[in-house]
Amino acid sequence: MDKALPQHDCKKFVQQVFLVLDGELTKEETDLFLTDIERCKHCLDHYNIERELKDFIAKRVEKRCCSEGLKSSIKEQIKSLSGSGE
Ligand SMILES: [Zn+2]
Repeated sequence: MDKALPQHDCKKFVQQVFLVLDGELTKEETDLFLTDIERCKHCLDHYNIERELKDFIAKRVEKRCCSEGLKSSIKEQIKSLSGSGE
């Protein structure tokens, strides 16, 4: 193991996954993260899953943005449905 790297802490790592994916860390911190992650299969798997999930959600949000009209018409329908009983 490389002594220059800080001690691996899975709990801290899981929190950092979100920061890295959101681009909240500096390039140095991200590089260290990516070097460290290869030492732990558990964290690497977690990172890959979160990254894929984020990509998936990002794509869905993009699609939703394109159909703003549809969204508001659905909202109107829900409003009229929930209001019909009163
Ligand atoms: Zn780990």
